[in-house]
Amino acid sequence: MKASAPADVVIVGAGVAGGLLALALRELGATVTVVDAPPGNGLCTASELSYGALPGWPLAPTPLARLAAGASKRWRLLQERHGDLGWRPCRLRLHGAAAGWRPLSAFWPLPFAQVDSAVLAARLPLVLAAAGVTRLIAKVESLDFQSASGWLLCLGDGTIFSADQLVLAAGAQCRQLWPLLPQRLRSSWAAALELASFPLQLGGPAAWLPVSFGRVGLERRAVGLCQPEWLVDGGLVPRAEGSLLGQHTLVNPGLELGLVPPSPEVERQLRQGLAAQAWGKPLAQLPGSLRQAAVAFCSEGLPLVGPLADAPGMWMFTGFSAGFSQVPVLAPLLAQALALEGAPAAAATRRLHKLGLGLPG
Ligand SMILES: Cc1cc2nc3c(=O)[nH]c(=O)nc-3n(C[C@H](O)[C@H](O)[C@H](O)COP(=O)(O)OP(=O)(O)OC[C@H]3O[C@@H](n4cnc5c(N)ncnc54)[C@H](O)[C@@H]3O)c2cc1C
Repeated sequence: MKASAPADVVIVGAGVAGGLLALALRELGATVTVVDAPPGNGLCTASELSYGALPGWPLAPTPLARLAAGASKRWRLLQERHGDLGWRPCRLRLHGAAAGWRPLSAFWPLPFAQVDSAVLAARLPLVLAAAGVTRLIAKVESLDFQSASGWLLCLGDGTIFSADQLVLAAGAQCRQLWPLLPQRLRSSWAAALELASFPLQLGGPAAWLPVSFGRVGLERRAVGLCQPEWLVDGGLVPRAEGSLLGQHTLVNPGLELGLVPPSPEVERQLRQGLAAQAWGKPLAQLPGSLRQAAVAFCSEGLPLVGPLADAPGMWMFTGFSAGFSQVPVLAPLLAQALALEGAPAAAATRRLHKLGLGLPG
């Protein structure tokens, strides 16, 4: 069956999820507008603060993890089409005890790359504009659905904007915009130290990562939490001229994100957590600035990708545990499901379901 003309789409959020989905939709010829909140109150977005690590092997025995292991191929293709997005091969150094479902030696030598999140943040707005995506810098304050006019987005300056097809890619703010989201969508606070250079004692720039991240286990336990829980993962990656050190994760019980944690306390915990690890001890007192971001995740690991039941025309693209690996491979599928019609859209939807990603409805 021949696909009919693509639909117009409005995406809320232009982090890695909203941005790469907008590019995938433009590849199909759709008319796309992204609405992205202006930077505010000293926080980063999750995409800006990301390590951007792209392991070239599956991190779990799932179809999605196998697909995500090929993310570098898609990033390379995007760079060929749109210019620098921060993707580059990167040396990997693992530290910490081995854990996981398969010995890492099975994949040796490990294929690894990184997206420099500072480069991506600087380049994405330019790339979107060059690709013909309309980008509005405004916070969406509220959403309303009216059968006559579709989705109405009330923007921070009082403007009302309408959309037939709406994608929520607003990360940890999605639930604030539309509370009726599946309970598995949660949020956490993340923090890392931004260093002005790469620590000399570790030689040339490389990604130093723990064999397994405690953050992933904490996200899986989120549903059962009765009180806030935090932990520190010891990692270090090059970023712009400097580097990002450590990853502090705070998960609150319940569905609410909660208030921004006080920076001095988070920095103390982060440095203390690094000092407690043999690898991190020599780095724990290096001068650096604490950066914080709110992060969306799904407690069962699978992100929310697809149309939302009981909300006609609303689609979800959020809750990634490893957005830099998962988004580039999922964005083309969601774009096809969203913007095409008939057999091509149905095939993309089936593919998403096979990855375990269909939303109930
Ligand atoms: C320290 C750290 C390290 C990480 N390391 C890795 C890694 O190595 N590899 C990996 O794959 N992943 C990693 N991640 C996870 C990855 O960063 C996230 O999965 C990914 O960035 C999520 O992108 P997103 O676009 O969904 O969300 P976000 O980046 O949070 O983007 C959401 C966007 O929505 C906008 N927005 C929010 N509310 C509104 C509103 N009301 N109106 C308009 N716009 C709105 C925001 O301004 C923002 O631009 C890491 C995360 C952190 C914090």
